Amino acid sequence: AAKEAGRNRVGWFDPAMARALQARNELEQALRDAIPAGQIIPYFEQQIDLATGQLFGFEVLARWDHPVHGIIPPDRFITIAEQTGMIADLSLAVMRQAFHAARDWDPSLSLSINISPAQLRDAWLPQKIIKLLLETGFPAHRLEIEITEGALFENLPLAQSIVGSLKNQGIRVALDDFGTGHSSLGHLRALPFDRIKIDRSVVKAVASDSDSAAVVSAIAGLGSSLNLPVTAEGVEDIETEGWLRNLGCARGQGYLYGRPMNSANTRRLLAERRLLAPGAPLLDPDHR
Ligand code: C2E
Ligand code: MG
Ligand code: MG
Ligand code: MG
Repeated sequence: AAKEAGRNRVGWFDPAMARALQARNELEQALRDAIPAGQIIPYFEQQIDLATGQLFGFEVLARWDHPVHGIIPPDRFITIAEQTGMIADLSLAVMRQAFHAARDWDPSLSLSINISPAQLRDAWLPQKIIKLLLETGFPAHRLEIEITEGALFENLPLAQSIVGSLKNQGIRVALDDFGTGHSSLGHLRALPFDRIKIDRSVVKAVASDSDSAAVVSAIAGLGSSLNLPVTAEGVEDIETEGWLRNLGCARGQGYLYGRPMNSANTRRLLAERRLLAPGAPLLDPDHR
């Protein structure tokens, strides 16, 4: 009991730890308020066809548009949202805004949206997504869901049934961040994926490090034998882009093509490139 009390005392009175705990509680409460307040918004990152240079769509990336701290990146709040059960609401809020923003973009443009492992334990996820698609008028065949490998370990039968329902609606599924952790052929075959995304950590060294080039080449070969096109993420320069193209990656995304942007700037870019749907107003009707 003395030992217990001692341990508690250290835990309770350690000022640094107490401060960290308080900061985290404040962040959690602020996030709880931020979702209904509409502060969690979608940013859009261009995805490019490496053979033609053509824009084919965007990855949707969550941002916290904080009234005091400005734009906060997802690694500061996604984990907290996952640990506290807020991720489902957060994700649906981001999707709703993204579908709404994209409703009058050129019909050739697709959206890729990240899903947390926790969301693959919600048997109602497909219905929730389909409801949003119907509400916003964004077509299912232009939507792709990105799933990380870690998500597959948790409850494979449920994940398989959820992904099956999504695919029956015409939604595509990509395996995200491949090439990190314990990537395996088994994961690729566990779900009916439509695409592999190679993680930035592998992509960034492809021009300078022959091991990275070998890994990219192996993944591209795997993709080609399984008939799964490969997207490279984190393409920052022309040299890397050239390597990726030669090694067999179909698509790329990264700062070479542009930083992720909010919906108003994305719309501006699409207007300049004549990639708004015919008849769509040049300015965002929502003024956002
Ligand atoms: P991810 O899905 O692997 O997304 C790619 C990340 O790499 C994004 O970071 C993107 O901004 C960044 N990136 C893209 N190109 C480059 C580049 O050329 N150089 C560098 N240095 N970075 C690049 P971001 O937006 O900070 O997102 C981080 C992660 O947060 C995402 O990784 C994804 O796992 C997660 N995430 C973002 N939005 C959501 C969401 O709505 N739901 C869930 N569950 N996770 C999300
Ligand atoms: Mg992703
Ligand atoms: Mg990724
Ligand atoms: Mg990644």
